[in-house]
Amino acid sequence: MTKVFLNKKISRRIENGHPWVFANEVNRVEGPAEGGTIAEVYTHDSKFLGKGYMNPLSQILVRFLTRSKNETIDEEFFYNRLSEAWAYKSKLGYTENCRLVFGEADYLPALIIDKFNDYFVIQTLALGIDVWKPAIVKALERIFKPKGIYERNDVPVRELEGLPQIKGFLSEPFDTNIIIRENGLQFHVDIENGQKTGYFLDQQDNRRAIEHICNDADVLEAFCYTGTFSIHAGHYGAKSVLGLDISEKAVTQAKRNAELNGLQDVCKFQAVNAFDVLKVWSKEGRQYDVVILDPPAFTKSRENIQKAITGYKEINLRGMKLVKKGGFLVTASCTNLVQPQLFTEIIEMAAKDARRNLRQVTYRAQASDHPIIWGMENTHYLKFLIVQVL
Ligand code: SAH
Repeated sequence: MTKVFLNKKISRRIENGHPWVFANEVNRVEGPAEGGTIAEVYTHDSKFLGKGYMNPLSQILVRFLTRSKNETIDEEFFYNRLSEAWAYKSKLGYTENCRLVFGEADYLPALIIDKFNDYFVIQTLALGIDVWKPAIVKALERIFKPKGIYERNDVPVRELEGLPQIKGFLSEPFDTNIIIRENGLQFHVDIENGQKTGYFLDQQDNRRAIEHICNDADVLEAFCYTGTFSIHAGHYGAKSVLGLDISEKAVTQAKRNAELNGLQDVCKFQAVNAFDVLKVWSKEGRQYDVVILDPPAFTKSRENIQKAITGYKEINLRGMKLVKKGGFLVTASCTNLVQPQLFTEIIEMAAKDARRNLRQVTYRAQASDHPIIWGMENTHYLKFLIVQVL
């Protein structure tokens, strides 16, 4: 078996449990080092650290699959890992929909599996996990007897790994327009053409957090995608809800979702650029009881972090101005590049510019089916804040 020996200085982080070995941390490799090769990793003085898959094309040379020398990486391994992930998510109460596998946080680096009741959507984002796709599909079939499995590997990061962008069925073909249940509501999910895996499960717990503030409220939601927060707001007793998204397709789906839940008279949607209309509407003096913002990441790279900061600040400033005195701002950020502390600092800057005071109601992360591993910062990526705007 291929052996990877680390440099003397750097092994502490990896010894403490971090699952990545960067190429510049490696002293030497003994044996074949092709994309997908399973290698054993050792400290400079030959202490065993774990086994993982390699990709010499990537800056991350090895990603750990196990820390146990006795564990073999084979079909059974994937069956066991998926079973463990499912046991954990079920224990936390996720019975129908959940992120079954959240990559590194479920000890399966670069693998994403979303479970939408009987349907599964997979992303294999590194070469070393991509080669195990048949084993992963087999394990899903064995554990769940799914009605369908689909791969949404149409994501640019795969190209860094030398992988093509593809999507398609990994089971017998099925109707990829499905309906899921969440918090007593129903939502259409377009597995094939929706954003990411079709649905943002990471906000599923946070959607419940708006319950009390929405009662009897006029609600504005920007970046609403298929209307999930808006429809929750309607369900929780809002007088009126207006959801905005730049994507026509998302807005069409949001309208269908409102109808599906009998909330079409309360929840309205428009396809517009939120940056533009929020600016105009605050100049016009429009006011809402609740403003909800869940914008996209704005940047994917650390070099462009300033772009993300500017984007978040700008949109929160505009959103805050639209909140009535004593109303609520619900705001989220989905990029791990903006850490929780920085996010609150950005909101604080926006509040100063808007000359408003904030009273924190709750500050949360992503839903618990997307575990946060301490010491693995990028697993804590979603920030979700509710503040009263005074
Ligand atoms: N809150 C949603 C997820 C939002 S994802 C949910 O829980 O399902 C971010 C959304 O912002 C995407 O749907 C994207 O189409 C939209 N978006 C991106 N730029 C936008 C802009 N300038 N104006 C309005 N919507 C935008």
